[in-house]
Amino acid sequence: MNPVSSMATPELWPPPGAAGALATNVMETVPARVSRVEKETHDTFTLQVEAADSLELPRFSPGQFSMLYVFGVGELPISISGDPERPGQLTYTVRSVGQATYALVTRQPGESVGVRGPFGTSWPMTAARGKDLLIVAGGIGLAPLRPAIYHVLRHRGDFNRLIILYGARSPRDLLYKKELAAWGYLPDTQVLSTVDYGGVSWRGYVGVVTTLFRYVRLQPMSTTALICGPEIMMRYVIRELETRGVPDTDVYISMERNMKCAVGFCGHCQLGPNFICKDGPIFPYREMRPWLDKYEL
Ligand SMILES: Cc1cc2nc3c(=O)[nH]c(=O)nc-3n(C[C@H](O)[C@H](O)[C@H](O)COP(=O)(O)OP(=O)(O)OC[C@H]3O[C@@H](n4cnc5c(N)ncnc54)[C@H](O)[C@@H]3O)c2cc1C
Repeated sequence: MNPVSSMATPELWPPPGAAGALATNVMETVPARVSRVEKETHDTFTLQVEAADSLELPRFSPGQFSMLYVFGVGELPISISGDPERPGQLTYTVRSVGQATYALVTRQPGESVGVRGPFGTSWPMTAARGKDLLIVAGGIGLAPLRPAIYHVLRHRGDFNRLIILYGARSPRDLLYKKELAAWGYLPDTQVLSTVDYGGVSWRGYVGVVTTLFRYVRLQPMSTTALICGPEIMMRYVIRELETRGVPDTDVYISMERNMKCAVGFCGHCQLGPNFICKDGPIFPYREMRPWLDKYEL
């Protein structure tokens, strides 16, 4: 049985519990307004978005994404990075890498964006209950994992240890610095960050994210691992987990491919037999293994 589909509703549109869902057509964009923009790093910003007028934005599950439309520029997939149990607003953390992401991060409070979704599968929060949750993130990959962290913190009794391993290129690329520091003080929670290049004033770990595994005591048979980051990083993390005996059925990854429709019509994001938009972006590693092992796919 596929653990993701066993915990997620097969019908992701309208999403479960959607109150006052605004669009019944999956291709219909809901008008929304940026209510807050926060600078995370030199190139990454977190935007809070509220529905225009007195409408409500739909609920989402940790790991799902929206299609955000910047009028006159284009539409792009962005993961929802906020608290799934805080209705009324959606939060996105966006790294400016091109035209559409630049247009998004330069939106000012009060300006409009269009929102479609949420789309896609979610992190297996039900299947992970009663276990240690190991979160491994690289760079902007921490954004789609943050709702899973919020979920654990809101339902702390449902999970054992929470372990967060996070790698970024340099100290100035680390996201959510204050939250990471605060989470590290919580009971049964271990948070370790590392950077590829530290510079003179960095006092933390230096090295790729897998170097942090030496500071973690894993209980392989009772751990669920959630991984998001560049594919090369995910490959090495999975190798580390295999060495430590974590079953591949307990490892979940988030895949990223260029996409247009987000609902499996256009085929832009097809990888093997899967459409990343509707069969993913979150997959059990076992399902993705044949495709992740093939470079350049
Ligand atoms: C399911 C999903 C969730 C995502 N969540 C986030 C998020 O939370 N925050 C965030 O900042 N970005 C996220 N992205 C990536 C984001 O959608 C792309 O960065 C964006 O579409 C780039 O558009 P652009 O016009 O700014 O840049 P473009 O000019 O289109 O591209 C700039 C550069 O980025 C590369 N690129 C563009 N799209 C992708 C992609 N999907 N995968 C890999 N490389 C790409 C291009 O090849 C080019 O080198 C997500 C993508 C997917 C598929």
